[in-house]
Parts: sequence; C-alpha cells; structure tokens
Amino acid sequence: MDESSVRQVAIKQALTNAYRHGGTADPRAVIGAVLGELPHLRSQAKEIIPLIEAATAEINSLSQDTQATKLEADYPGILAQLTGKKEERRNLPKLDDAKQGKVITRFPPEPNGYPHIGHAKAVILNYRYAKMYSGKLILRFDDTNPGQEKIEYYEAIASGLDWLGIKPDLVKNTSDDVEKIYGLAKRMIDLGHFYVCECNQATIKENRARGKECEHRGMGIGWSQDHWDSLFSSYQENEAVVRFSGHMKDPNTALRDPTMLRIIGHSHPLTGNKYRLWPTYDLASPLEDSMDGVTHALRSKEYELRDELYYRILDALEMRKPRLIEFARLTLRGTPVSKRILKSFIEEGWVDGWDDPRLPTLLGLKRRGIVPEAIGEFVEGMGISKSESEPTWDLLQSINRKIIDQVTKRYLFVGDPVKLVVENAPSLSVILKHHPDNDLGQREVETRGRFYISKADVEMFKDGEIIRLMELFNFQLTKRGGSLGGTFVGVENIHGIKKIHWVPEDAVKFEVRIPGPLFKGEIRNEDTMEIVKGLGEPKTRLLRKGERIQFVRFGFCMVDSEGVAILTHK
Ligand SMILES: [Zn+2]
Repeated sequence: MDESSVRQVAIKQALTNAYRHGGTADPRAVIGAVLGELPHLRSQAKEIIPLIEAATAEINSLSQDTQATKLEADYPGILAQLTGKKEERRNLPKLDDAKQGKVITRFPPEPNGYPHIGHAKAVILNYRYAKMYSGKLILRFDDTNPGQEKIEYYEAIASGLDWLGIKPDLVKNTSDDVEKIYGLAKRMIDLGHFYVCECNQATIKENRARGKECEHRGMGIGWSQDHWDSLFSSYQENEAVVRFSGHMKDPNTALRDPTMLRIIGHSHPLTGNKYRLWPTYDLASPLEDSMDGVTHALRSKEYELRDELYYRILDALEMRKPRLIEFARLTLRGTPVSKRILKSFIEEGWVDGWDDPRLPTLLGLKRRGIVPEAIGEFVEGMGISKSESEPTWDLLQSINRKIIDQVTKRYLFVGDPVKLVVENAPSLSVILKHHPDNDLGQREVETRGRFYISKADVEMFKDGEIIRLMELFNFQLTKRGGSLGGTFVGVENIHGIKKIHWVPEDAVKFEVRIPGPLFKGEIRNEDTMEIVKGLGEPKTRLLRKGERIQFVRFGFCMVDSEGVAILTHK
C-alpha cells in the first residue's frame, strides 16, 4: 500500500463530499468512496481507514471557501461535474498575450508509436485554444530519431486525430527543416553556445551526473568550427555530438550541456539516407516552434525543467519566443502509456496489438467503445491544471455513458445461462422497443415456453416463488434437487413482483469480454480479461463488428466479431 496515494484519493473524496454537504464531509461516505476507487486495498481496510479519517478531518477543518478553492485548483474536472456546468472558461483559462485570429498552437508527436490518451490530451488542448482564438493548429511530426520512427506511425497519428475530429491547419515534419536547423546550429557554434564533443554516451552521462566538464568544452570556438564538417563525413555514430554550452554544475540538470545534435546511421522513413546528423527534441522544439510562428506551445509538465534551455537557445539566436504552457500529463489509473511498456506487452503477446481494448491507445479506446466526444469532454474537464491526478477509467466511462446511452439499442442477453421450461406457457410474440425512451426502432421476439435465464438470477429465488419474465408473463418457480422448472401463472403484471430477464430457446451464443486494468498498483494484473459466456436474443445474430449495443441489465458493449462483444462499461 502506498500511503501517499491513499491520502491523495482521500483528500479528493473528502473535498468532493464536503462540497456536496455544505463543508462537512461524512467520514463513512469518504471511506466508501475511497475503497470504491481503490478496490484492491479493501483487504487492508483496517490500516487505511485511519488514514482516510485523518484526511477527512483535515478537510473538515478548512473553511468552505478554502475547500472550494482547493477543489477548483486541484480537481477542476470534479468541480465542473458537481456544478453541472461546462466550465470551459474555468478549465481553459484565457491565454496571456493571445489575440483573436493570431494564436498558433502545435501538436508535435514523434511518429514512434500509436497515439494514446496522453497524446489526445495534448492535441485536444492545443486544438481547443486554437479554436478559442480563431487561430491555427499545426501538426508537426517530430521525426528526428530515425531508428524509432515508421511510416505506419505517422499514419496512425494522423488517423487518430481524424477520429478525434481534429483537423490541423498545417501538417509538416521536423525532418523538412533539417537544413535550416543545421544553419542555426552552426551559428550557435560560431557564437560559442554550442560545441563539438567527442566523448561517448557513457562519459557524457557520467560527467553530467557528477557536474564535470570534459576536455572538448574548453577547446574553443575555432576547434568546434574545424570539427563541424567532420560531423557530416569522418565521424561515425557515437564518435561525436554537438552540445549546448550551459553549466555542468547547474542545479537544473537540463542545462548541464545537453546534446543538441547526434549522428544516427539508421535510414529515415521520409528522407532515407540523406541526413545522418539529427537534432534532439531539445534543439528541434524551440527552433521549429519559433520558425513555424507558434505563439503558444502547450506541452506536458515533464518538460518543465527544459523550459529554460528552450528560451536560452532562442535568446542566443535572437529568435521570436513562443509562450510555453505546461499541463499535467494524463494517465489512467492502472494503465501505462509508456511506449516501451506497451510495445513489450504486444511483443510478448500479452495483449492483442495496438488496438487491444485494454490499452489506452486511441485504437484500443475506439475498439472498446469509447467515443471521441467523451475523450474531448474528459480532457477539457482536466483543463491545463498542472496538478498531477491520475483519473480512473470510471470517470471517462461515466462521461461516455451519458453520451451513448440515448442512442444505443438494447438487446436481451443472459450470462451464464440455465434452461427453464415453463409448463402451460402460451406461445407469444412480443414487440420489444430498442430503447425505453427514444425511438430507435423495435423488434419482435417469439417464445414457446422454453427459455434461458441467468444462473445468478435463479440462485436468488426460492422454490415456489412467483416471478415475472420481463415484458412477458409470470410463472411459479420449481426448484427441486438440481432441476429447474416453472408453471405458467398469468400475463398480467403484478405490482411489486420480482422480474428477471431471459432469452428464448433459439438464442444465439454470445461471449462478452470484460477488459480490466493492466496493472494493480505496481503489479501486473494477470486477470485482465474476464470472459462471460452467454446467450443473446435471436436478432443478435445480425450484429456486426463495430456495432454499439446495450445488453439489458448487463452493460454497453461493442460487437467485436460474430458472437463476441467487448464490454465498454456497465
Ligand atoms: Zn567531450
């Protein structure tokens, strides 16, 4: 158990509860909410309850105003939900120095993997701001690390944006500008801000950690100028790099002479073998943003330490400086977004591929049944807050549910089915609406006294009880020994009667896969895909891949293949 994360969740839940109840959170409700959010800790309730109580007492000791301010600062999404408003202004505050029609933002992904929810956050925020100011969004593939990049990934990112409904005003590649970047880098050498270093990677790393300068740093501008050409000819990979001349003892380690250009022999997916000296992100990012006319660059908080380097490069070159704005990185609890981890899961065959519904990739979310509008609302709810919160799937799912509920057709489904024969039952043909409130059409279901019902339902009833098959008729249950049966009682709905759902005997085999989190805390969750085998009503035979349905009293699903569905959420 990680005490600080329990505390974080407890504070959040106490704030939420206090906001709802006039400034005083109910400790029991907070305990329930925390255990609901951290179900894997239920077995340790004894140890965590005192932590939750302490956090609740702490929140209750604050004034109502302080609670509200804290909630707004740390959990704007929750506040927006509680107030029921679309707090666009609150979560997307005005940008400094932004003029209508003049704002240019950018989304610079490296084409080295499939886009995931973290990318969605970055691109949505940049896009929303461009829209807010009638400005422009640039999609710039930050493709300066050829060994990692593939055409497949450029395409996956472009179609991911398309799915999110985002149309960039300009699409370009950092690799388009390599010559310009060389020119600017050479000027930095001439000005003494960059130098050529022949140390190997390990030495550079060690010296940066120890704050130690290498011999090349002191060789002077002339030496670096003389060795510049060799970067394009005699030097091989790992024999030389170009570094920024910062300070090797700078408390901000990002300024300890970071690498600006390095030789990579691997062929590039777009430029082939034309270039082999490639700028790092730290160099390409400020130069490209400035040259592209970017006015406001929103990027996630892990780059914050590198802001100073970004500005120092542009200052030295007397180039226009965009404004950098940082926001908290988005990960969903239990779901890593690291490309390295996701790739290893795929290579091991532990998940299906980039579109596995357990993954936070856009393809995975789509296959699972999350709609792009829900992702947009989810991201806007967090806004540009820098506070690190790790939202759960539940929040994304509850937003998604609200959006799809009104437009999704209902079908009958019985999980873990058992057969039920009802004596004397009339043969009926019932018309069932696809949606209780909205006109989504209807279908006819025929019954002849033989049904399947769910085993879990059967276990709840006693021998002799009178039960109603939903929208059909009442029967008396006989449960003797291992056998199950029933006798028809009547069709009239009786007030207060218990109802169960059913499918007729010509039902179709359907399997529902329930994706779970990949991790429980730090530990890999081995049981990530629960499978429920059941039966769908006969019309489910006609459902095709990509259709969104709700299995009544079971959950919203995406049909994944014939007879197989993935649970989107309850
Ligand atoms: Zn060196």
